[in-house]
This record gives sequence, structure tokens and C-alpha cells, in this order.
Amino acid sequence: MPKSLSERDSVVSWHPYTQMQTAPPPIGIVKGEGALLFSDEGKTYIDAVSSWWVNIHGHAHPHIAQRVAQQLQTLEHVIFAGFTHEPAVELAERLLRLLPNNQKRVFYTDNGSTAVEVAMKMALQYWYNQGKERTKIIAFEGSYHGDTFGAMSVSERSIFTQPFRQYLFEVEFIPVPIPGKEAESLSALKALLRQNEFAAFIYEPLVLGTAGMVMYSPEVLDELMALCQEHEVLTIQDEVMTGFGRTGKRFSADHLTRQPDFMCFSKGLTGGTMALGVTTSTHSIYESFLSLDKTKALFHGHSYTANPVACSAALASLDLVEKPQFSKDLERITRAHANFALELKGKAGVKEVRQTGTIVAIEFAVGDTSYFHNLRDQLYHFALDNGVLLRPLGNIVYVLPPYCITQEQLDQVYATIEGMRELI
Ligand code: PLP
Repeated sequence: MPKSLSERDSVVSWHPYTQMQTAPPPIGIVKGEGALLFSDEGKTYIDAVSSWWVNIHGHAHPHIAQRVAQQLQTLEHVIFAGFTHEPAVELAERLLRLLPNNQKRVFYTDNGSTAVEVAMKMALQYWYNQGKERTKIIAFEGSYHGDTFGAMSVSERSIFTQPFRQYLFEVEFIPVPIPGKEAESLSALKALLRQNEFAAFIYEPLVLGTAGMVMYSPEVLDELMALCQEHEVLTIQDEVMTGFGRTGKRFSADHLTRQPDFMCFSKGLTGGTMALGVTTSTHSIYESFLSLDKTKALFHGHSYTANPVACSAALASLDLVEKPQFSKDLERITRAHANFALELKGKAGVKEVRQTGTIVAIEFAVGDTSYFHNLRDQLYHFALDNGVLLRPLGNIVYVLPPYCITQEQLDQVYATIEGMRELI
């Protein structure tokens, strides 16, 4: 008998965020189509979390597949120092047209963590190049910006970061301005700004994903940004998760009146097909690196910077993002989530239901809310047994689907979550 995918995997693979000794064998996936994933054992799963929040148009989308295949036959890769190519230039042009009009330059990387690293390096070097001593960064409590050392430093100190704690740089954390805590958050920021000249404030706009889909209003973010701007503290808007429709508009930026100094993207950028990250900045940031002194350049790059195939995938994804169907789907899912939230609110076992656009999160009422609490695994496996891929964050279950998900599929996801109340 040939060995199954998961048997072969168990001998050679090392999976992320996984205690390999105790984790059940991974599920072998052989095909994806729309919102569905098909296993080698003949099972079907609705991908209700867009495979780690990346997939926005559905799996194996024919338009993206076609553009990627064409690009592979034309130019698969070329060094991006001293050389350039059509997909990188076209993507930068098109992306900048969609972003706040102060965003003028695009720097390519490979994922969300490095998009954040680059924004932080640019922010720190912006001050360094001017000979100014501004080296400290402000972030939100509970935030998650990635797994590289800089990104870990501006993220919540947790079991994820504990083994590396002595290598993480010092950051000031302020409370997230969730409803009822706006004044506390604003006054914490004001107090910090009075004490010190900070380099930058980094934040997940409107929704802190890994923290458990913690949501706050655009109005208070505008106020926080205004305070930073008054004190010349640079703002880094990490839209790695929120970008490309998650908040019900193309970007979180579309809910705001203030414009950030930097924006970070990845995940939905290529429609969830290829690894690509982007950091965008204003002209004044870019200008601060211009000099006859070569040491003022940004010394950062990756072998696969601006990979043409990944850029083509992103261009194909943008074709779909710019179609009227895209905003129709955002509205449809936002409405469906709102109805579901209304139905679930106040029911036994449910502590809170939160929604921002196409993201809905259900917090179950339990005493122990830790990430490794048994309930988390029970909820995860309950969903899989019901043919739905959900990845609870402790006692919080959220739906963040590809925008092609049908109402019937959404109903199956909602019914699964409703059924979870029995486990509480
Ligand atoms: N920033 C945010 C807000 C994220 O949610 C994530 C990943 O979940 C990252 C950065 C890191 O992205 P990546 O996993 O691509 O390194």
C-alpha cells in the first residue's frame, strides 16, 4: 500500500506553530477550488479562514493561474538591484493608485513579517539619516506583526516570543482603544509623547488579528494618528491582514481621514497564491534616503525581491479586486455576517460577537482563555468534523472567508459555530 500524504509528511516535515510530538497528523490536501479544499482521503473542507487569511478570490483561480503561467514562460526571476521588469513597475503603479495619495514609493519583500521589518528599518533610518536620536517605537498591547526579530519586538510578548526575549528591542505598548477604552488608549499615547521623542507608532488598523480579532473604530485611530503627527512620530499602518477587503473596504485606510507614513501589505496581495510583501512610503520618507553619501541608502533586500511571477499573481489579483463583483461580494459577506452576529448575540455560551466588514469573531464564554486551552483544540476538530476549516484563537472563533464563498457555504460555517455552543 502506498503511504498517505500525512504518513510521508510525518517523517520529513516540521510544521509552523505545531508541537510535533502531540499534534494529530496533518490533513493532506490535493486540490482547491473556490472556497473548498479537497483532501487525499476524499473529504471536503470549506476554507473559512482563507488559509491563514491569504486567499481572497478562492483557490486555484483560473485568471491568476493563467497570468502566472504566462509570466513563468516569459521571465521567472531577475535580480532587482540594477534591473527592473514590467510586473514590478506595473504593480507599483497600480497599487499606488489605490492607496492614500501620500503613498509614493513601493519596496518589495516576500511576506508580511519582512514588509513590517522594512517599514521599521525605514522609519529608524529616516531619523538616523537626519542625525536625530529617535530610536523608540510604540505599538498596541496584544499586537502581532510577524515572527522575525524586529516584528516580534513590536508584537505582544507571549509564549511565542519568550525564548528570544533578551534579543527583542524595547517597545512602549499602549492599550487598544476598544469600545469603552478609547480615552485610556489616547491618554496613554499622550503621556508617552510628552516623555520621549519616538521614532514611530506601528499598529494593525481597525482589527488586531492574532490578538483575537480585537476591533476598534476608525475615528479613534484617526485621533491616535493625529497625535503622532503633531509630535512628528511616524505612523506604520500594518495592513498585512486587513488589506484587500477584509474590513469591508479595499483597505482600512479607506475608513480613515488621516494618512499613514508607511503601509505594509502581504497575504491578500497575490490573492493568496504566491509569497510577496510590500512596504509603501511617502515621498518625504523616500527623500530622506537620497544623498551623494552612499551609506544613506536602505541596505535591505532579498534574493527574491519583486519576483516577477509573484508580481504577476498580484496584478491578476488586482484585476479581480478592481471588478465591481469584488465590492458586491464584500457587501454580501458583510451583510451575512451582520445577520449571523445578530442571531448569535446573547445566546448561552457566547460572551461577545464582533464584526468588522468580512470578519466576524465569536468569543465563547469560558474561564480559561489561554491559547493552549483544551477547548481550542476541541473547537478546531469539531469544525473539521463538520467539513469546515476554522482556526480558533483560544476561545475565539472567527470567520474570514474567500470572497467567492457562497451563501450556502456560509450557512454551513455559521451552523458549525452555532453547534460549538454545545461544547462550552
Ligand atoms: N502583520 C499582521 C497584521 C499579520 O496578521 C501577520 C500574519 O498573520 C503578519 C504581519 C506577518 O505576516 P507573515 O505571516 O506573512 O510573515
